[in-house]
Amino acid sequence: MAEKFLNYIGGQWVPAKSGKTRTNINPATGEHLGDFPDSGAEDVAAAVSAARAAFDAWRLTPAPKRGELLYRLGALIASKKEALAKDATREMGKILIETRGDVQEGVDMAYLAAGEGRRMYGVTTPSEMPNKWAMSVRVPVGVVGVITAWNFPFAVPTWKIFPALLAGNTVVFKPSEETPKMGWHLAKLLEEVGLPPGVLNVVHGDGPNVGWPIVQAPGIDVLSFTGSNGVGAKIAEEGARLGKRVSLEMGGKNGVIVMDDADLPLAADAVAWGAFGTTGQRCTATSRVIVHERIHDQLVAAVIERAKKVKVGDGLDESVNMGPVINARQLEKIHAYMSVATGEGVSIAEGGQPLTGGAHAKGNFFAPTVFTGVTPKMRVAQEEIFGPVVSFIKVKSLAEAVAVNNDIPFGLSSSIFTRDVNTAFAAMRDLSSGIVYVNHGTTGAETHLPFGGVRGTGNGHREAGHTMLDAFTEWKSIYVDFSGTLQRAQIDNS
Ligand code: NAD
Repeated sequence: MAEKFLNYIGGQWVPAKSGKTRTNINPATGEHLGDFPDSGAEDVAAAVSAARAAFDAWRLTPAPKRGELLYRLGALIASKKEALAKDATREMGKILIETRGDVQEGVDMAYLAAGEGRRMYGVTTPSEMPNKWAMSVRVPVGVVGVITAWNFPFAVPTWKIFPALLAGNTVVFKPSEETPKMGWHLAKLLEEVGLPPGVLNVVHGDGPNVGWPIVQAPGIDVLSFTGSNGVGAKIAEEGARLGKRVSLEMGGKNGVIVMDDADLPLAADAVAWGAFGTTGQRCTATSRVIVHERIHDQLVAAVIERAKKVKVGDGLDESVNMGPVINARQLEKIHAYMSVATGEGVSIAEGGQPLTGGAHAKGNFFAPTVFTGVTPKMRVAQEEIFGPVVSFIKVKSLAEAVAVNNDIPFGLSSSIFTRDVNTAFAAMRDLSSGIVYVNHGTTGAETHLPFGGVRGTGNGHREAGHTMLDAFTEWKSIYVDFSGTLQRAQIDNS
């Protein structure tokens, strides 16, 4: 009998009001991992009223105390890291070293947000009037709706939920329906460290039945979303209509530029890790290699050599280097890009097909794939494939490489490999993306730096880093007049 999991609403573990459930499946083995609530608008409504009811007491809890809870949480997550990583691998497939990293990001984020509890700095400034005090302070916005993707099932929710809670908001969280167990774990962990009932509420289910009611709920003030551009655009429109604050983290089409003076083995290692790590299902995955023509053939050969060595299989097997794709639909989407590529005149230099039979018989596996002969405007160079597929684009100069890198609808992460300090600094200045790496691939963000992208990747917000509170706080300006007289600004001080 499959284990049954519940929603967490107002401090209670409850089923969907309809009693419906949905199955959680291991994408590597097809194993049935448990049944989760298949919730609906009525469950969201219960979660929103629990969050509203809890808001006043939580906002009035001193921020350093809210921070102390997050310190305890960080330590608790760290103590359970291995078990959490194994559960993450089971439900979304990436290999254990990567899910350990995913959980570690949650630990890092807990400590980072906790420290903010004793800072949460405001601004004081002199008044233009005598005997008058002026300052601006951060205050929580209210109830935050959090909707997340499945590819970083632990880390991404923590980037949103921990700063939101630290700032004094309450939260209604919908984990991805592909990774409900990690959302369930997060609620369990917060319950264990003593988060008051209603401060975090977790409602499981799909996008249309749970996500959309969260977007529309009048009791939710802020929407923090990570996922695809199609869904993000709908949330932005509806959020604007309803006057909500909306923070969006969406797709990527990240490029690594490799100049002819680069350390080639290092660049090849970074490209292989960026393209095939997490089975290419990262918003920061390396999907384009923009390479100087003088070293193109050498670099292609080095990346193919690495692709051939990638052992594909169940991420729980420590000898495996690349796990499955999340589901059959995504496998089909990646596969369909092979005929898009060949139709555009691209050569499939390595891989290009699903892996079936033997160790791959029960899961959704795709071979590490290398495209050559790609030109910048082709669909495979412009669209997010979200699989283990990397395209090589040949260029003649730094200026051309930068132009190709920037001419896409996304702008999350870019990278350059060069040994020339002038080239590196020019690229740091000119690459148009939220994150730039020098002599490092496109993945590897650290939680204490802002995370997010330009153009279609986002809507101007940055998560984590010193910007972590921006989406979750309002600025309140306060004036205290201690003159005992009526002092009119702009009038009585001339
Ligand atoms: P998705 O957009 O399909 O789903 C994301 C979340 O939105 C899920 O929880 C889903 O249930 C929910 N959702 C779906 N339809 C909805 C609707 N109509 N209303 C409200 N919610 C709805 O994306 P995905 O397949 O889970 O994730 C992959 C995408 O996420 C990729 O594009 C990837 O680049 C992006 N991503 C971005 C970042 C980043 O920080 N920029 C990080 C990770 C993933």
